[in-house]
Amino acid sequence: NTPLHELDPDVAAAVDAELHRQQSTLEMIASENFAPVAVMEAQGSVLTNKYAEGYPGRRYYGGCEHVDVVEQIAIDRIKALFGAEHANVQPHSGAQANAAAMFALLKPGDTIMGLNLAHGGHLTHGMKINFSGKLYDVVAYHVDDETGQVDMAEVERLAKESRPKLIVAGWSAYPRQLDFAEFRRIADEVGAYLMVDMAHFAGLVAAGLHPNPVPHAHVVTTTTHKTLGGPRGGVILSTAELAKKINSAVFPGQQGGPLEHVIAAKAVSFKVAASDEFKERQQRTLEGARILAERLVQDDVKAVGVDVLSGGTDVHLVLVDLRNSELDGQQAEDRLHEVGITVNRNAIPNDPRPPMVTSGLRIGTPALATRGFQAEDFTEVADIIAEALKPSYDAASLKARVSALADKHPLYPGLK
Ligand code: PLP
Repeated sequence: NTPLHELDPDVAAAVDAELHRQQSTLEMIASENFAPVAVMEAQGSVLTNKYAEGYPGRRYYGGCEHVDVVEQIAIDRIKALFGAEHANVQPHSGAQANAAAMFALLKPGDTIMGLNLAHGGHLTHGMKINFSGKLYDVVAYHVDDETGQVDMAEVERLAKESRPKLIVAGWSAYPRQLDFAEFRRIADEVGAYLMVDMAHFAGLVAAGLHPNPVPHAHVVTTTTHKTLGGPRGGVILSTAELAKKINSAVFPGQQGGPLEHVIAAKAVSFKVAASDEFKERQQRTLEGARILAERLVQDDVKAVGVDVLSGGTDVHLVLVDLRNSELDGQQAEDRLHEVGITVNRNAIPNDPRPPMVTSGLRIGTPALATRGFQAEDFTEVADIIAEALKPSYDAASLKARVSALADKHPLYPGLK
């Protein structure tokens, strides 16, 4: 029972340093969040010791009576949260949820359609060296040059030309909402399955602040750690008709023993996601992103070549367009890091710079909303970012403003 700090001071020191980093800086990576202490407690529990291949009531190991309870709670809660007929809560991650969903519905060599990576899609939606690009024939759709929004006319044209077996609607870097009904109409017209990957916006859907893809899609995948605010992991939702296929694609198709400690943590986070407090937090998340987008289209930043893709946002993130800025994505990411704000550089459509450099930034508000940020705090963050992207920036004073915000909203105050 030796505690971590005694048993392994090296690892403990790195964990402590990471806690300090999270507490003292402003986390604005759009795919990140802060899990509640209760979620981390469940994730750090004795459930990590248990093998439970199979599903509740049908396991290949003895002693599963308690993990069965936990997994069934997680299944029931997420089905209720999104109105799904079936849920599989075992995927270890979002990528594995997508792999299992595709494994359930497709054969190698089948055609899939997904949003191009540089236009906001995810690796698992058909990127060349990802499993999805290697196993399937990929036809990518894009955003429109003018509007920055997914070109549904192109989706329809490509679907009719290529007759895909699966269309993926979903994104990792896109500031607008997708038209799920229109995707389904096109999928039905060409005899394709519709899979929606709501990893990024699942929390907004749970709060009723974003259209729910579940009624439109055959399969919906998600991560549990982005806007949803739970432990790192994945989930697959589907129609009852596809339940058996999905379950056998996850286990034994893709995975062995499920991570029951993570499933327990998922269950806790689904309880949180059904609360009024969670809804209010998602409202602040959206408000924060809107405030940021509005600040980054003002004349003073336009004058230094900074712009916002699609002109604004309907979700929890803003995509900053640096094509006309003296800063590339890497330099802008470093500049914000210098003042204590963590973001990631991101390729933008028709990016003239290479993928390791890019001409964009993806900036998200979920983690700060979880920290308790209100509109006035987001106004201050937006101004700090705007100032930091100017050639005349004053690192020391911006850093002090960041520290003041971090102090105003302490993170994990009970943890050291
Ligand atoms: N799907 C989307 C849309 C994502 O943005 C991501 C992660 O960024 C994933 C899937 C993969 O999730 P994970 O990193 O848990 O494998």
